[in-house]
Amino acid sequence: AHLDRIAAVDDDVHAFLQVDAEGAIAAARSVDEQRAAGAPLGPLAGVPIAVKDVVATKGLPTTAGSKILEGWVPPYDATLVTRLRAAGLPILGKTNMDEFAMGSSTEHSAYGPTHNPWSLDRIPGGSGGGSAAAVAAYEAPLAIGTDTGGSIRQPASVTGTVGVKPTYGGVSRYGLIALASSLDQAGPCTRSVLDAALLHTVIGGHDQMDSTSIDAPVPPVVEAARRGDVRDLRIGVIKEISGEGFAPQVRARFTESLDLLSAAGAEIVEVSCPSFEKGLAAYYLILPSEASSNLAKFDAMRYGLRVAPKGVESPSAEQVMAATRDAGFGDEVKRRIILGTYALSSGYYDAYYGQAQKVRTLIARDFAAAFEQADVLVTPTAPTVAFKLGEKLNDPMAMYLNDVATIPANLAGVPGLSLPNGLAEDGLPSGFQVLAPIQADDRLYNVGAALE
Ligand code: GLN
Repeated sequence: AHLDRIAAVDDDVHAFLQVDAEGAIAAARSVDEQRAAGAPLGPLAGVPIAVKDVVATKGLPTTAGSKILEGWVPPYDATLVTRLRAAGLPILGKTNMDEFAMGSSTEHSAYGPTHNPWSLDRIPGGSGGGSAAAVAAYEAPLAIGTDTGGSIRQPASVTGTVGVKPTYGGVSRYGLIALASSLDQAGPCTRSVLDAALLHTVIGGHDQMDSTSIDAPVPPVVEAARRGDVRDLRIGVIKEISGEGFAPQVRARFTESLDLLSAAGAEIVEVSCPSFEKGLAAYYLILPSEASSNLAKFDAMRYGLRVAPKGVESPSAEQVMAATRDAGFGDEVKRRIILGTYALSSGYYDAYYGQAQKVRTLIARDFAAAFEQADVLVTPTAPTVAFKLGEKLNDPMAMYLNDVATIPANLAGVPGLSLPNGLAEDGLPSGFQVLAPIQADDRLYNVGAALE
């Protein structure tokens, strides 16, 4: 049924870069056989899933939305993919994204943008807009996203779906094409809070292949998603990110949800996180710095594309590398490589990268102080509803401002969830974000379930 749905709508939505009908059907049949043989099956066995194209899938092309990886077929599965397969989830295909997960709209994909199923002339969010759109358009019941600065939560917000960024280290990064290794985290994109919790449990947990993986059990997220009880819970509204800069109806829906939580027995408190205002600036130094280093491996020798420089008879390796990177990377990727290389260069390191790391510490301290006054923190997920395709494409600063509410969680490693928060401007969905302390991911699901 999902393959039929993809065939019917994906020409318009363009959520997928690659559909693997054969592989998905074979995996589904194998679950049927196991069921017939009486084998014990997990709760998501047989439920198909779409996977963001930044996650390595053995035998299935993986491009990260970039021309430089066109035609690359990974010889191995990411750990989370191994876990999906073991739990019997057929993989429908790979979803579209901004190139190397840099962006908030999928417009930086080298393969053309994804369209928001709510209104095809609008962005589906980014970078994981393909995963969110696939779920919103009923092309897939579940999807995997990755979130470095909001790429799971902001697409969820603008497509009316649920997106979760687990605690940093909660889901293995082995087999993810790294954007910024200290910020990247994979997580669920779904239509309900309980679905997200079930998927979180499948992909989460310790992995010795990832040195930053947390060696502790997955928090009890499924129980929490079934509970949805906020009585006596202290819910903190972050003063610095709930007012100015957010569209009027986005704010109105946010306030209504606070009223609902209060009526359900929660205590609403105001907290202050003064350093959050500097989060965006710190992020856009730390991310390009790490990205410029991570992307150095695309050197025309090891993966994908190789371009011969024009008019050079026997080019040196360096010339091939330069020609390949020039042809293979898009503008946004080049912009960030240049920014990152600059920020890390000697003489500037302390002024930029070093300073940004200090802000990062201040943000972690703000969270620690806020979580003494509140059990969870809440904000609107994104400042506006889905904007029109093309509207912010030539204004990087306007594009970056979408991430103001989602970035602090990545900088501090705390978990975050976005769930649908009713329709705002132009009848389009808005999102409600919940943030919890490190390894208290279950609190997100509890609050999410109470609001759903
Ligand atoms: N919009 C953010 C960026 O462009 C988010 C990226 C992400 O989470 N992968 O960096």
